[in-house]
Amino acid sequence: MVGGGILGCAVARELQRSRPGAQVTLVEKEDHLAAHQSGHSSGVVHAGLYYTPGSLKARLCRRGVQLLGEYCADRALPYLQCGKVLIARDQAEHTRLRDIADRARANGVPGVRLVGPAGLAEVEPEAVGVAALVSPGTAVVDYAAITRALAQDVQAAGGRVLLGHRVRTLVPLARGVRVVAEPQPHSAWGAAELTDLFDAVVVCAGLSSDRLARASGGSADPAIIPFFGQYYRIDDAHAGLTRGLVYPVPDPRYPFLGMHLTRRVDGTLTIGPNAFLSAAREGYRGQVRLRDLIEVACWPGFWRFAARNVPTAVRELAGVLSPGQFLTEARSYVPALEGARLTPVGRGIRAQAMTRDGRLLDDFAIERRGPVTLVRNAPSPGATASLAIAEHIVAAVA
Ligand SMILES: Cc1cc2nc3c(=O)[nH]c(=O)nc-3n(C[C@H](O)[C@H](O)[C@H](O)COP(=O)(O)OP(=O)(O)OC[C@H]3O[C@@H](n4cnc5c(N)ncnc54)[C@H](O)[C@@H]3O)c2cc1C
Repeated sequence: MVGGGILGCAVARELQRSRPGAQVTLVEKEDHLAAHQSGHSSGVVHAGLYYTPGSLKARLCRRGVQLLGEYCADRALPYLQCGKVLIARDQAEHTRLRDIADRARANGVPGVRLVGPAGLAEVEPEAVGVAALVSPGTAVVDYAAITRALAQDVQAAGGRVLLGHRVRTLVPLARGVRVVAEPQPHSAWGAAELTDLFDAVVVCAGLSSDRLARASGGSADPAIIPFFGQYYRIDDAHAGLTRGLVYPVPDPRYPFLGMHLTRRVDGTLTIGPNAFLSAAREGYRGQVRLRDLIEVACWPGFWRFAARNVPTAVRELAGVLSPGQFLTEARSYVPALEGARLTPVGRGIRAQAMTRDGRLLDDFAIERRGPVTLVRNAPSPGATASLAIAEHIVAAVA
């Protein structure tokens, strides 16, 4: 297994559960688990509202919700079913909301209902809109804690979790795959290089998944384009203004759900994430990394995508430059947030796969090349679906 995010840990655990006696090794380049997407998400257990019926996302999200709920109960991990409303602010959004309601029903999401302004006020008394879709089953969790619990399960069943080792190459052989991983400088986890032979390797490398695909002889297409999303915490005096999660009606042209008000398992309320090109794949403090930028600039799809999205980029840039935009957006759903103080609480960086012709891949993408299985696109709701994605991958590897 390559990658100590929630997917890598879920797949490692599932492999070990389904094949008792198998020797499972999970290799992660950082000194701790959930260092990237899995530790920088909104923490939402998506109920499955938006996704194209029949797609992998739609199927694995619904199964994932069930498995995640059971897992959190089993391991006494927080699972706060606070519910969610998607709010339409005008007639155009209302039309799109009806489409989402149809999808939610087709996906078998329980309890969803469309309501008008009075129905919205019953669920979220401080929220306003012309209509809303209520999803009572949506929940929040701590995905980093879940990732660590999954890795503990792997170790408890005899598996190995090797932190601080970066996988450099994967060499598919006639029987099995040779994995070469080098210790990271200053790693607290030993200095030995790993050059072991495995029967099969599953790569869940998030922001590096295209690089590892290439390192195992796979196609360069799709490439990973990193999009960051900033979060701000809303001050305690205003944090009680919502009961659950408040989401916009997403723009169907993008795979991102739009800035939302998110209740966290610790009771705090955040607003975010926006979506803008990141100048470094792992630039959580806004760093610029030349290699990452050059890769984006050399990807032909990026320029096609950029040419189509100038107005959106300009709008998103305004939010990047001014946190006031976050509050303006939040107040359009919850006017009582007027005067709230926002404190930055970091950013997450999405590993978004983009094709050579500039299309953002919407569905989960899993590619099998002999003994190597590569997860090439696992955007939101990838964390929600993680245990179901693990079942899906392990069934195919077996
Ligand atoms: C801002 C944001 C908000 C999100 N919100 C939600 C949400 O509310 N609900 C939801 O369901 N999903 C959400 N998602 C999506 C979710 O976080 C991802 O789908 C999920 O975390 C993907 O897990 P992963 O294990 O594939 O990736 P990651 O967590 O990124 O893990 C990949 C791991 O691979 C390691 N790695 C990379 N290269 C190597 C190498 N060469 N050798 C060894 N290790 C390597 C990395 O260090 C990393 O730890 C969100 C994502 C973002 C960015």
